[in-house]
Amino acid sequence: MKVTDVQLVMSAVSPSQYPTTGYPEIGFLGRSNVGKSSLTNVLIQRKDYAHTSGQPGKTQTLNFYELNHKLYFVDVPGYGYAKVSKQAREKWAEMIETYLTQRSTLAGVVNLIDSRHALSDYDRQMHDWLAYYQIPTLYVATKMDKLAKSKVKAQAKDLQQQLHLTADQSLVMFSAKTKQGAPEIWNWITDQTKN
Ligand code: GDP
Repeated sequence: MKVTDVQLVMSAVSPSQYPTTGYPEIGFLGRSNVGKSSLTNVLIQRKDYAHTSGQPGKTQTLNFYELNHKLYFVDVPGYGYAKVSKQAREKWAEMIETYLTQRSTLAGVVNLIDSRHALSDYDRQMHDWLAYYQIPTLYVATKMDKLAKSKVKAQAKDLQQQLHLTADQSLVMFSAKTKQGAPEIWNWITDQTKN
């Protein structure tokens, strides 16, 4: 989709703040530093619209980007590697579970993982939540340009196995540097959000 208009319309912490237009939306999940802002910028064809996510501990909000007055991308906050307090983690988990379970216009979720590593505990937790709530999910393995070309296929297969992907889930290898994978990701989003 050619994105001619994009606006950050809301930073929400609770359902009463979610937009009410009824446009379908796609949530983007992933731990801080996985490459979420970079992916979003490639998909919306902007250089620096979605900013790199903040430090762990700073206010965590669901950021709703309205595209072409017909679709939302929702940046779902993730945590970094630094330890956060149990209380902050619980608050964050509650916000995300509320969003994933109560948002009727959520058409699907793009869940980002780092293509270079095995799944982390964090990745597994996200995977289990998404499977439990039966949310259509596309896995995007980021930073594939950092993998040796000869290793890409085997790594994709390995990640697919670790994720136990079912027929309605797939994995795309992506690089924000080369934009490889972007058309496949857009195809999936278009499929999920068409009426
Ligand atoms: P976020 O915290 O998940 O939003 O991650 P960012 O998009 O800010 O990316 C974190 C770091 O990884 C930045 O230094 C990016 O330049 C880098 N990065 C993100 N995607 C890619 C990619 O596909 N290839 C390479 N080589 N670096 C990437």
